[in-house]
Amino acid sequence: MSQNTCPECSSELAWKDDQYYCDYCQSGVKKKALCPDCHAETEKLLACGSASYFCNSCNELKSKSRVEIVFEMQP
Ligand SMILES: [Zn+2]
Ligand SMILES: [Zn+2]
Repeated sequence: MSQNTCPECSSELAWKDDQYYCDYCQSGVKKKALCPDCHAETEKLLACGSASYFCNSCNELKSKSRVEIVFEMQP
């Protein structure tokens, strides 16, 4: 089971207003999926109910199991 934790305080994130939110830091947190090959941010595509990720740098699809999920505080 994957956990969604705050990059600042490591507490569990809540889902609020269409984004993750840390109650302790009182800040929104953005979930990003990075390309496993070039580490650029990928675009999430929804096809047939399953998510895949497209890397604009590599110009190809990356499977969900390979992308690196990172969390970033919103300013
Ligand atoms: Zn936090
Ligand atoms: Zn890439």
